[in-house]
Amino acid sequence: MSQNAMEANATETEPQVGSSQDDDVMVEVRDLRTYYEGEGLFGGTPVKAVDGVSFDIKRGETLGLVGESGCGKSTLGRTLIQLESATGGEIRFDGTDITTLSGADLKKWRRNAQMVFQDPDSSLNDRMTIGEIVREPLDVHDWKTPRERRQHVKELLDTVGLQREHYYRYPHQFSGGQRQRIGIARTLTLEPEFIVLDEPVSALDVSVQAEVINLLEDLQEEFGLTYLFIAHDLSVVRHICDRVAVMYLGNIMEIGPTEELFANPANPYTHSLLSAIPEPDPSAHKDRITLHGTPPSPRFPPDGCPFSTRCPARIRPPEYENLDNDLWVQLDTLREVLRERDRAEKSVTDRIRELLGKEPRFGTIEEIYGELFDEHDVPADVQEILDETADLARDEGEIAALDRLGEEFGSVCEGYDPDTGGENEDTDDPVAPEYYTVSPTGRRSFCHRHDPSAEYAEPDQVLDERH
Ligand code: SF4
Repeated sequence: MSQNAMEANATETEPQVGSSQDDDVMVEVRDLRTYYEGEGLFGGTPVKAVDGVSFDIKRGETLGLVGESGCGKSTLGRTLIQLESATGGEIRFDGTDITTLSGADLKKWRRNAQMVFQDPDSSLNDRMTIGEIVREPLDVHDWKTPRERRQHVKELLDTVGLQREHYYRYPHQFSGGQRQRIGIARTLTLEPEFIVLDEPVSALDVSVQAEVINLLEDLQEEFGLTYLFIAHDLSVVRHICDRVAVMYLGNIMEIGPTEELFANPANPYTHSLLSAIPEPDPSAHKDRITLHGTPPSPRFPPDGCPFSTRCPARIRPPEYENLDNDLWVQLDTLREVLRERDRAEKSVTDRIRELLGKEPRFGTIEEIYGELFDEHDVPADVQEILDETADLARDEGEIAALDRLGEEFGSVCEGYDPDTGGENEDTDDPVAPEYYTVSPTGRRSFCHRHDPSAEYAEPDQVLDERH
C-alpha cells in the first residue's frame, strides 16, 4: 500500500479501514506486511505475500477473507496468530501489538488465538487417541490436573457434537466431518477468544459442510468467539460472515458489510470475483467478467494498483478511451509478455543459439507482435507506437519497449501521475490508489475510480460499457 493510503487510514478524522470509530474493536491491523525472502534464481527479491493491509475486526463478529488462491489470505490468517512472522506493520489485540511479543509472553498470548485448518488430518496424529489429540494443548500449557483435563476434553467432545466414548478412538475411525469436529474441539481447549478458520469446510462433502458451519455459528454464540473466516466459496462466506474483505495480490481491495458488498460491489476486482458465482435471482443476473491474463507474481507486483495488469475497468488515457476493447486487451497482453520475457531466464540452448548468431527458441519480437495484432484492425496511431516499441524491444531490450508502452497507454492505475505524465514527482514513488469510503456504513474500496476530485466514471458503469 502506498504511504498515502496508510496516512489516509491513520488520520484521526477518518474511520479506520472497514469499521467505525465507536465499534468494539478486538483486532487492529495496520500496514501489515509478510514477505518471504527470495532464494535461488531470483536472488534477494522477496515474495510479497501480504503487502500492507489495514483493517479492524470487531469483537464477536465474523470477518470473511476471500480472493483467488495465492492472493495471500492464508498467509494473512497465519500472520494474525503469529504462525508466520510479520515483516512489518502492527497487529494489535486489545491494544497490545503482538508482533513484538516473544518467549513466555507469546506463549501466554497464543492461548487467545487459535486456527482451524482446511485439512483436519494435518492436525490429527493417527497414532494418538482423540482424547490425547484434543488434550495436547492443555498438556503443553500445564492446565490444571490430568483428571480435570480429561473431564474438560470429554465436555468439549460433547460440545462439538461427538460422544464422550470417542475419547479412546483413533482418527482413522472417523469421517471427514467428524475429524473436522475433532479439530474444532482441539482449537477450543484453551478457550480462545479469536479463531482463524482457514477454509474449514472446503475439504468436506456439501452435506457435511452445513453441519460444520452450523456448529461454528453455535459455538460463536455460546462462547462469544470472534472469527476470521478464510474461504474461496463465496456462498458460504455470504451465509456466515458479517463483513467481508476481498484480497488480491497481498492487498485488500474492498472491505465492508457482507450483504451490501455482495449486492452492490464497488471495486472492479470484487465485481469480477462476484460475477463468477451463480445468481439466484435471474432478473439480477450480470454477465460474467472474464479476466485476461494471470495474477502477477507476488515477487514482482505491478506499480500502482495491484490489479492494474488485469483490471477490465482500468483507467485509460483520454485519447484511448474508445479504443476497441479486444485491441486494448491485446496491448495489455503485449506488456505482460514483455514483462515476463524480461524476467525469464533463457535456457542454455537459447543462449548458445544466440551466441551462434541464431534466433533463440524464445520467440522473436516479430512473432509476438504478429500473433497478438495480425488479426486486429489497428488504427494508424497505435500501429506507429507498436512499430516503435518493436524496434526498441529488438534494439534496446524489453524494458525500453515497456517504458514506451507505459508512457503511451499507462495511466494513474499503473502508478503514473496524471498531472505530470510520469511517476509522482515529489516522492519518486509510483502513485497507488487510496481507500475511498463508498457507503455510509464505512465500506471502503481501493480504487482511483472513487476519487471524487478526478471525475472518473464509476467501475460498474465502465464494466457495463466494456462488456
Ligand atoms: S485503480 Fe481501480 S480502475 Fe484502476 S486498475 Fe485498480 S481497480 Fe482497476
